Amino acid sequence: MISYIDMHCDTLAEAVELGRDKIIHFNDRAIDVVRLEEGHCEAQFFAAYIDQDKSKDPYEDYMAMRQVLLNTVAHSRNLKFTNNYSELSKNFAAGKISAFLTIENGCLVEGRMERLKKLKKQGVSLITLTWNQANCFGFPHSSDSAEMAKGLTDFGKEAIEEMNGLGIIVDVSHLSDGGFWDVANISKKPFVASHSNCRNIAPHTRNLTDEMIKAIAEKGGVIGLNFAADFLNPDLSHEKSTVDKLFLHAKHIIEVGGIESIGIGTDFDGITCKLEIPSCDKMPLLFEEFEKRGMNHASLEYLAYKNVERVIKDCL
Ligand SMILES: [Zn+2]
Repeated sequence: MISYIDMHCDTLAEAVELGRDKIIHFNDRAIDVVRLEEGHCEAQFFAAYIDQDKSKDPYEDYMAMRQVLLNTVAHSRNLKFTNNYSELSKNFAAGKISAFLTIENGCLVEGRMERLKKLKKQGVSLITLTWNQANCFGFPHSSDSAEMAKGLTDFGKEAIEEMNGLGIIVDVSHLSDGGFWDVANISKKPFVASHSNCRNIAPHTRNLTDEMIKAIAEKGGVIGLNFAADFLNPDLSHEKSTVDKLFLHAKHIIEVGGIESIGIGTDFDGITCKLEIPSCDKMPLLFEEFEKRGMNHASLEYLAYKNVERVIKDCL
């Protein structure tokens, strides 16, 4: 049975929204500890997701989501809070699942380098620089070409170097194209698009061009396949997320970026479409279906966990 690492989910935000203090059982959503084990998960990245338009205090909201993860780990035998490669390996050898804390929307950094250091101390492993609004790092993806061309702020540029030094993975999903190229030029470490697909197949501004896929691959980074219908379907239709479309995007990323550039970033609990792979316990079915469509076992291992393991080893 193949294990896997998922670089993005919004389960913590859902838990806070629904007033849950932990996610051992969270059956009306896509991820909980019980089903991560059923799905043979090696590691799950849990994002503290911030919508600036709704959040009164992004830092407080992040702390509340972090607390849900800490409560979950405290009440679980199998889930371990982790922020580095050696613990990931130890946990895996002991049959435990690693939980990585990440942030989706760097607005809570508030343009302060010392805040980045504090977040690192609190166990944050990755920051998705922007969500769909501008913040201290830069600007989001946009259908407006002038917006899309905007690069990182001065703070954002400096912060990339700081994150490289501290050991926080830089995530370009949701970022403007201009911001993407600033990260590609500045980052000395591998960086990721934790949950993005191919613009060549589905022309959504959230997806990556072939040049971007190549740039991530050249830096030793990874692209996490996103399960959202909007980012999979060539007509950008919102209704249905299928294995066929996931396979198409996976194949394209591998063709353009190479087998070492592909990973998984389900976006579970942040997406609302009808999913053929609806929850973490069904992940083995995805790998089975990819194998049926001709992907060999060695390639599947790179896709499922090996490439993200390498990025964790290089950065954390
Ligand atoms: Zn997202």
